[in-house]
Amino acid sequence: MALWAALADEIAAFVLAGCCAGCDAPGTLLCDECRAALTAEPVHTSTPDGMPVISALAFDGIVARCIRRVKEDGETLLARPLGAALADAAAGLLAVHPNALLVPVPTSAASFRRRGYRVPDLLLRRAGLAPARLLRPTRRTRDQRDLDVEERRRNVTGSMRARHARDAGDVVVVDDVVTTGSTLDEAARALTAAGFRVCGAVTLAATPRRREF
Ligand SMILES: [Zn+2]
Repeated sequence: MALWAALADEIAAFVLAGCCAGCDAPGTLLCDECRAALTAEPVHTSTPDGMPVISALAFDGIVARCIRRVKEDGETLLARPLGAALADAAAGLLAVHPNALLVPVPTSAASFRRRGYRVPDLLLRRAGLAPARLLRPTRRTRDQRDLDVEERRRNVTGSMRARHARDAGDVVVVDDVVTTGSTLDEAARALTAAGFRVCGAVTLAATPRRREF
């Protein structure tokens, strides 16, 4: 009986876990090798407007697959290892600006309805950090994927507003993936207009295209 119970437990664990998000190895949500590939190796870049950006990981291979599983397939369990990488990348900025609020780039109403969660906020919370939701989208934007740098800038200009605060202090902008950096610049513009001091941005990943800048 004990053997059957143990087998049943193993089958249940297998069915629940599915396969590795990074490499499809069966029986685990994330295998040891893929988990190791999610260890932060921070890359420093800057946006078109010159804001410093720290990205935990390069958006390709295993990392890209895991991020897509969170963003497109609702696999929120992966937000914990990915959030840990984001927190590692943020640690350097937070050491210099210990009182900075972590402000996620806002999620569109349509994306929030589809997923039921906001990806940057979820990553921060899973890492034990508190997102400060100071930014709101003010209008719809187009899907950025096929747009070049200038088109992206135009697409996001004026698309966010920051809540005004009497004691506006230091802030760090947080997003999941940075491509050209135009969305981060727009977030910084809105926060600066509301009186906040923007110390920089932290993202979970940077696209290879971004790293060519
Ligand atoms: Zn794997």
